[in-house]
Amino acid sequence: MESVDVLVVGAGAAGLMAAIHAGRTSGPDTRILVVDGARKIGAKILVAGGGRCNVTHHEVRPEDYGGSTRNAIRKVLRAYPVEAVVEFFAAEGVALKREETGKLFPTTDKARTVLDALLEAVSKAGVELRHPVRIESIERWDDGFTVAGSDFQATAGRVVLCTGGKALPKSGSDGAGLEIARGLGHSTTDAIHPALVPLVLTDVDPIRELGGIAAPVTLMIRSGNGRAIAEYTAPLLCTHFGVSGPVVLDASRYLLAARAAGDDATAVVRWLPDVDRGEFELSILGASGGATCQSLLKGRLPDRLLRMLLHAAGVEPADRVRGLTRDRRRALLDTLFEHPLVVVGDRGYTFAEATAGGVPLSEIRLESMESRVVPGLHLAGEICDVDGRVGGFNFQWAWASGRVAGAAAAASIRSNS
Ligand SMILES: Cc1cc2nc3c(=O)[nH]c(=O)nc-3n(C[C@H](O)[C@H](O)[C@H](O)COP(=O)(O)OP(=O)(O)OC[C@H]3O[C@@H](n4cnc5c(N)ncnc54)[C@H](O)[C@@H]3O)c2cc1C
Repeated sequence: MESVDVLVVGAGAAGLMAAIHAGRTSGPDTRILVVDGARKIGAKILVAGGGRCNVTHHEVRPEDYGGSTRNAIRKVLRAYPVEAVVEFFAAEGVALKREETGKLFPTTDKARTVLDALLEAVSKAGVELRHPVRIESIERWDDGFTVAGSDFQATAGRVVLCTGGKALPKSGSDGAGLEIARGLGHSTTDAIHPALVPLVLTDVDPIRELGGIAAPVTLMIRSGNGRAIAEYTAPLLCTHFGVSGPVVLDASRYLLAARAAGDDATAVVRWLPDVDRGEFELSILGASGGATCQSLLKGRLPDRLLRMLLHAAGVEPADRVRGLTRDRRRALLDTLFEHPLVVVGDRGYTFAEATAGGVPLSEIRLESMESRVVPGLHLAGEICDVDGRVGGFNFQWAWASGRVAGAAAAASIRSNS
C-alpha cells in the first residue's frame, strides 16, 4: 500500500486547481497525488463552451448561483476572485479575452489551451497525476484515510474530494463521489437533479415543430400559487423535443427544484421581453384600420414562431387588429406575454451542464473547504451544493473552491510536520 500526504480524488476543474495549489503550498517532502477514474483527463473542460471553454465571467456574484446560501458562496468566491483566476491563467501562458456577454474565453478559442496549461501547472507543482484510477471507497482512521479503488490502495493524511456531480456521466462524473461522501457521514441535499438542462414539452406542443428557431425572451418560473421564483432574459431555442438555449438552461434548475419539492411550478414565456404589455395593448387599440395581426408584429419575432403564436391565440395573421373582439385581444396579449410552457420533463444528466444539489456548504468550513463532519477531508467543485448559471460561473466555483481546498490541505500537512 502506498502512502501520500494529500490525495486529490478527481482531476476535473476543481481537482486540477486543488492539486496545483496543494503542490505550490506544500513543503519539499510532501507527497501529493491526484487520481481520476477517466481514461481521458479533462473531458468536461474540453467540451465546455462549445470547445472554447468559457473559463469564467468578468463579474461573478453570489446571486449567479443556486444551492447553498449566498453568504456561504460569497465567502469562497472572495478567496479566489476573477482577477486572481485571470492572473493565474496568464502566468500559465493562457491569455483570456472578454466577450460582449461578459464571458471570458482563452484568446486561442481552444479549450485544449486551458487543459494543457492546467496539466503543465500540476506537473510543475510537483504533483503526480495518475489515471485511470477509479476510487471506490474511502475510510477514515484516527490519523488519516485508507483509499481503495481499481488496482489502487493508499493511505493519505488528507483527502480532497473533487469528484463532481452527475452531469455528463460519460465524462466520469456519475455521482459516485456523492455516495462516498455519504458513506463518510456527510448528508446531501434532499433533492439532487440536473441543472442547466433543456426542457421537454408535450408531444403535441407546436413549439416542437419549430426546431432551430431562436428568439430572445423572458422566461419566468412561478410556483403553483403564482409566486415569482426566478426570471431570466436571454435567447430561447425551439427544438424537436421542446426548448433549450441560455434562458431555458438558466431557469431549468428553479423549475426542477420547485417540482422536486412538490410545488406544481410552471414556466411562463414573455415573447416580447422589451415591450410593456400595457403599451402594447394601447398600440393594438390605436392601430390603423388596415393593420393586421401579422403586420403589427412583423419583424418582432421569427415568422414561423409568430404564426404559431397567433394560431395559439386563436387569431389569423390576416385578421384586422381593430376588429379583434375583447376576448381575442386578451388571448393575443396572454399568448405574447404570459405563455405557459407545458413542461413534461427534462433531458437528464446526459444533456445537463451541471448538477443542482450535493453536499451542503453548512457541513464545510469555508476558509479551508474542510469537512465539519470528517476532519482531514476537503471538498471542492460541483460535489458541493452550488450551481451557477450559464457564463463561466461553474468553472469559477470550481477554481475558487479547488484552490481553497488544495492549499488548505497541503498547509495542514506542513504545519503538522
Ligand atoms: C457540456 C458541458 C459544457 C460546460 N461548459 C461550461 C462552461 O463553458 N463554463 C463553465 O463555467 N462551466 C461549464 N460547464 C460546467 C463545468 O464543466 C463543471 O461545473 C465543472 O467542470 C465542475 O468541475 P468539477 O471538477 O467539480 O467536476 P468534474 O469536472 O465533473 O470533474 C470530476 C472528475 O472526477 C472524476 N471522478 C468522479 N468519480 C470518481 C471516482 N470515484 N474516482 C476517481 N475519479 C472520479 C471524473 O472522472 C471527473 O474527471 C459545462 C458542463 C458541461 C457538461
